Amino acid sequence: TRAAVPYGQGRARGLGADVLGVHGVEMDNLVALGLPVVPGLTVPIGAGSGLQDHQTATTAIDLLEKLAVRGIWPAVRTERRPMLMHLRCSAPVPVSALPPAISVIGLSSRNIDALVEVIGRERDIYDSWAANLRFVAENALDVDVDDLDDLADDHPDSRAQVPALLELIEESTGAPFPADPAEQLGLAAKAMLARWASPRGQRARRALSLPDDLGIALHVRALRLGSWNESGYGSAISRDLETGRFAPHGVFHLGVRRADPNPGPGDPLDQTPGGVQILDQIFATLEPHLRGVAEVEFEVRDRQLALLSAQAVEHPGPRAITHLAVDLATAGSIDRSEAVRMLEPDLMQDLLHAQLKLTGSEQLLARGLPASPGAAIGEIALSSDRAIQLAGQGKNVILVASETSPADVPALLAATAVVTSNGGLASHAAVVARGAGRPAVCGATTLRIDANAGTVTAGEVMLREGDTVSVNGRTGDVYCGTVTIRPAEPSAELEVLLGWADEIRRLRVRTNADNAEDAATAFRLGAEGIGLCRTEHQFLGDQLPLVQRLVLAESEAEEIEAIAALTTAQQSDFTDLLRVVGNRPITVRLLDAPLHEFLPADGEYRDEAQAQRAADTHESNPMLGLRGVRFAMVQQKLYPAQAEALFRAWVTVNGEGLQPQLEVMIPLVSLPGELSKAIEQVRSAAADVEQDTGVAIPYLVGSMVETPRAALLAESLAEDAQFLSFGTNDLTQLTYGFSRDDVEKTMLTHYLEHGLLDDSPFAVLDTDGVGALISMAVRSAQQARPEVKLGVCGEHGGDPASIAFLDSVGLHYVSCSPRRVPVARLAAAHAAL
Ligand code: PEP
Ligand code: MG
Repeated sequence: TRAAVPYGQGRARGLGADVLGVHGVEMDNLVALGLPVVPGLTVPIGAGSGLQDHQTATTAIDLLEKLAVRGIWPAVRTERRPMLMHLRCSAPVPVSALPPAISVIGLSSRNIDALVEVIGRERDIYDSWAANLRFVAENALDVDVDDLDDLADDHPDSRAQVPALLELIEESTGAPFPADPAEQLGLAAKAMLARWASPRGQRARRALSLPDDLGIALHVRALRLGSWNESGYGSAISRDLETGRFAPHGVFHLGVRRADPNPGPGDPLDQTPGGVQILDQIFATLEPHLRGVAEVEFEVRDRQLALLSAQAVEHPGPRAITHLAVDLATAGSIDRSEAVRMLEPDLMQDLLHAQLKLTGSEQLLARGLPASPGAAIGEIALSSDRAIQLAGQGKNVILVASETSPADVPALLAATAVVTSNGGLASHAAVVARGAGRPAVCGATTLRIDANAGTVTAGEVMLREGDTVSVNGRTGDVYCGTVTIRPAEPSAELEVLLGWADEIRRLRVRTNADNAEDAATAFRLGAEGIGLCRTEHQFLGDQLPLVQRLVLAESEAEEIEAIAALTTAQQSDFTDLLRVVGNRPITVRLLDAPLHEFLPADGEYRDEAQAQRAADTHESNPMLGLRGVRFAMVQQKLYPAQAEALFRAWVTVNGEGLQPQLEVMIPLVSLPGELSKAIEQVRSAAADVEQDTGVAIPYLVGSMVETPRAALLAESLAEDAQFLSFGTNDLTQLTYGFSRDDVEKTMLTHYLEHGLLDDSPFAVLDTDGVGALISMAVRSAQQARPEVKLGVCGEHGGDPASIAFLDSVGLHYVSCSPRRVPVARLAAAHAAL
C-alpha cells in the first residue's frame, strides 16, 4: 500500500503497525471504539518520500480536506484560509526517540496576517512557525546549523526570527521558502525522514536494539482554524497514580500544539472550553481496551474535544494497577484471573511496606543489599546496648553494625531498621529483620564502623552515633538525614485482588514464625498456618543462657536441671503461640542451633572447666557441625524435653477448645537412622504426656530435607516421615558448597557481573541443581508414601520465581516470612494461571 489511509480505515483494510505505524493503529482503534479523533491520515511506512511529489502531496491534502469538512472544517479552503497541517511519525513498534512533530504546515507570508486575525494568539503562531522553519531548514534544506543557531541567538522573539529564517533559507538555497502547502508538506516529510535516517536517529535505534532500516509511517492531520482563544490542546490521565482511584485529570493549553515537547505547566483541565466531562466517558471506554491506566492527548476546537493519541501509561505503579484491575473485573470488562494476572507479585511488595519518597536531592551514604523491604528513618546506634537505650527513650533507632548475632536480637527488634556492613541476604541480620518486618540493608561494604569513636564513615562522609539516616530496604540505599516516608497502605482493593488470587492458587501459603506476634501478623496477611517455627529462636536474647547451660553442662545433674528450665520456658512460649495458631497447622522444628551462635563470648565462662568444655565443642565449620538432629543424637535429653513442652502446651490450649494441627519436624537429617531415632524420642514424649494428662494428642512427625543426601534418600525418609519440608537455605548452601553467610560478601557480585550467576541462589531457587534435587525427592517420597505432605520453608518460599517452580513440581505448600505472605499468595496464583 502506498496511498494515504484515513484514520479509522486501516483495520478494515487489514493493515497493521507494520504498515501504519503504532500511531496509525492506535487511531484506528480509537475510531473503532467510537471515540472522537482528529481528522487525519497515515502515509504508510516506506511511502513517506512520495509526498515530495507535488501531485501526491496535493492528493493527500485534498483527502485531508474531505475528512476535515465532514467533521470540523469551517469553510472552503481559499488562499487566505489555507489548509494548516500537523505532521508526526511513528514506527512499527513503540519508540521513544522519534523525530519531533512539525506544526503549522501551510503557513506563509501571504496568509499569516489573515490567519492571525482569525486565530488570535499571534505569538503562538509565530513560535510554531519558527520551529517548523528551523527543523525543515536544518533537515531538508541543508542550511548550516551554526548559522541557524546564530540566528536564533540574535532573534529570541519568534516574530523577528521568522523573517530572518525565511531570508537565511533563501540565501542558502537560492530559492524562497515555498508558499504552496503541498510543497511545504513535501519538505516537512523530507525533513522528518532525513532526521530518522540521520546518525542521531541511528544511534537512538541502536540504543533501543532496533534494526537500522526500521521505517516510519507519517501522520498528517488538519489543524482546525477558528479562534485559538477558544481552542487548545491538553493531556490527561485516567487515574490518580498515588491512590490508584479513577480520577481523570491533566492540563490544558490555549492555542496550538507546538513542536516543543515540554510546553510548560498549562492550565487546569476544568478551564478547557466546553468542559471535559467527555473525558470521563473516553477513559471509561479506553481503560478496558488498553487494560491499563490510560493517557490521552487531545485537542479542543469550538468546544469539541477530539483525541490526538491514547496509550496505556507505562509504569503506573502497583496502587494504580491494583485499583484498575479490581475496577475492570468488577465492571465485568475482564475476568478475575485476568485481574490477578495484571499485578506482578514483585511489584506488589511495594504496597506492603513503607516507601521513601525521593526527590533526587538526597545524599546517599552507602548502598548495600536490599535485605528486607520497607523504609525507616532513625538515629544511628552502633551497639545493641545503645539501640535498646535509645529505643527505650522512645526514639526511632537504626542499628548499624558490621554484622549481628543471636545476642543482638532484642536490639534488632527494638530498632526500626538495621544496616550491616558485612553479611548477605541470608545473614543473621537479614533473616531476623525479614521475620520481624524491619527494613534491612546488609553488606554495605563501604561503611567503616568505629564503635569506640562512635562514628560511621563512608568515603568523604562521616556520621556520628545519634545522627539521623534514612534506610530503603527495598533498594539497599542508606541516605544521610531525613527523607520523607510514605507509609504502607494495604488497600481494600488489594484485599479483594488477593481474595481472587486465593481462589486460583493450588499451593497453600504458610508462614515462618517463632512467636505469637509474628504469627498474628502473618495470619492477618492471609497465612494458612505456620510452616516453620524455629524453636532455637525462642532461646535468643535473655533466654540464651538456658541453652548455654545445656551445652556446657558438666554433670548429669546439671544437664537435668538445664533441661527442666528449658522445658518450662518453652512450654509457656508454645502455649502463647498455639493460642494464636488456633485450629491451623503448625510445624514446630526441634532445635537446630549451630553451637557457636549460642556460646558466650570469650572470657564469660563461669570457671576453667566450663571454658575447657566450650573449647572442646569448638568447630572449624559450625554450619557443617553438631547442628540439628546431630546434636539431639549426642545429647539425647533435648528433643524429648522440647517435645514434652510442646505436647503439654497443646493439651493446655486444647483444654481451652483449640485444636492446633501439630507437625513436629526434625532438622538437618542426612541419615534415615537419625530420623527414626529422633521420631522415637518424640513419640515417647507424646506417650508420656498422653499418659500423664489422659488426653490423646494428634500430631504428625516429619523431616526437613536440607542436605543433598536427605533429598537423595527421600524415599527412605518418607517411610518414617509423614511430611517433608525442604529447607532450601541449607539445601542451597550444601548443594553448591556456598556458605550462606559469606557468599554475598565474597563472591556474589563478581559472579553476577561476570554472568556466572543470574541471581543469588539464596534468593531465587536454582531450578537446575537444587530444584532438580527437590523434584526428584518429591517423586521418590511419594513412591514410599503417596499421601506425604510436602512443603518448602527456606527463604525461597516467598520468592515469586521460586514459587512458580515449586508449584510446578507439585509441592503442597510454601512457608515464608510474615510480610511475604501476600506476595506468596499472589505468586502462587500466577503460577497456577
Ligand atoms: C533452611 O535451611 O532452609 C531452613 C529453613 O532452616 P534455617 O534457615 O533455619 O537453617
Ligand atoms: Mg536449615
